[in-house]
Amino acid sequence: MTYDVAIVGAGIVGLAHALVASRRGKKVVVIDRDAAANGASIRNFGFVTVTGQAAGDCWQMARRARDVWAEVSEAAGIPVLHRGLVMTARRPEAEAVIDAFLRTEMGAECRRITPRQAADHVDALRADEITAALYSPHELRVESRDALPALARWLAETQGIDFLWSTAVHAIETPKLETSRGTIRAETVIVCPGDDFRSLFPGRIAAYAPTRCKLHMLRVTPEKPVRFGAAVMSDLGLARYHGYADLPEAAALKTRLDAEQSVQRENGVHLIVVQSADGSLVVGDSHHYGETPDPFMPDEVNRLILDEMEAVLDLGDYRVSEGWLGTYASAADRWRFTDAPDEATRIVVVTAGCGASTCFGIAEETIGTLFGA
Ligand SMILES: Cc1cc2nc3c(=O)[nH]c(=O)nc-3n(C[C@H](O)[C@H](O)[C@H](O)COP(=O)(O)OP(=O)(O)OC[C@H]3O[C@@H](n4cnc5c(N)ncnc54)[C@H](O)[C@@H]3O)c2cc1C
Repeated sequence: MTYDVAIVGAGIVGLAHALVASRRGKKVVVIDRDAAANGASIRNFGFVTVTGQAAGDCWQMARRARDVWAEVSEAAGIPVLHRGLVMTARRPEAEAVIDAFLRTEMGAECRRITPRQAADHVDALRADEITAALYSPHELRVESRDALPALARWLAETQGIDFLWSTAVHAIETPKLETSRGTIRAETVIVCPGDDFRSLFPGRIAAYAPTRCKLHMLRVTPEKPVRFGAAVMSDLGLARYHGYADLPEAAALKTRLDAEQSVQRENGVHLIVVQSADGSLVVGDSHHYGETPDPFMPDEVNRLILDEMEAVLDLGDYRVSEGWLGTYASAADRWRFTDAPDEATRIVVVTAGCGASTCFGIAEETIGTLFGA
């Protein structure tokens, strides 16, 4: 059989392209070397973030992708576990960044709230330690390790998309894909390889000088129940997420954090806390860059993340019930790239930690340029 579109990679970027192509009436196959998605897309926070994404197309695509997530999660029966973001501040320099952000177009539907109001969203917040917060209504949170298989199932059952799991793609010369299960034919091929820069089109991908980023992730189980009505972030995030950190007002915050939390800053630590259906919390993360990140998870880095969590949240007694590493593609000078080896072939890579938040927006752009807007 010849497909209209073959997608290589069943991570969230591949699934987003599969959905958008099938909505155009295309017969689609998704091919992945693993038996189920096992990369960045199931290891992340499931935090579909709008506020804090870099100004410009990243923020625009995040808004669009959030809308599609809201629609698709409902259709596919994927629970949205909470919505919105409480970005806390503990320093005047952090408050200045929040105020500056609110003056940008990206702040339009967000607002500054008091520590007490912040605690109405998340009861474990240390309202006596934080000095103010930004509330954003835009975000939503899914459990990625469940959401990805559910989305793939829904795409297969309701959109008629074929999935070829446990199938490595070795070479592509559209319309031919050479795979570990023989040749597959498709008129258009979209490669969404995540942080695999070597298997397909290595020369073309190398032109974008990508590297890889390794992140520590923890699951924290509090002894007493806590209620998260929104995701929580902190000062370190204001100095790292480009939507805030690129503002001129962030310079003073970075200087102060470099002095007061230098080890966290050196390890790329910032705080995101989201809640799962069983009440446990997903807490992260750190950022270490390299061509082949090592597979180790030093406890000192975990401690840095937990210290920041404890500065913002009073959870009482808790245990770290799980930990895992993730890696994603990264590039110094861009948050994504789309490359066209020929008219019918595309390579789509998100080179920052925002692929879950932007995937559907990117997919609509790719499909639009291939098949017309
Ligand atoms: C710990 C962590 C936390 C994150 N937090 C967030 C967050 O909160 N919000 C957010 O928006 N983003 C977050 N991200 C980033 C986000 O997860 C990624 O940007 C996104 O998942 C990338 O999706 P992808 O489909 O490109 O890659 P992947 O999920 O890595 O999928 C790529 C797939 O391609 C397959 N593949 C590659 N080459 C071949 C081949 N030759 N043949 C067959 N199959 C192949 C792989 O097997 C894999 O399944 C986080 C990432 C990590 C690691």
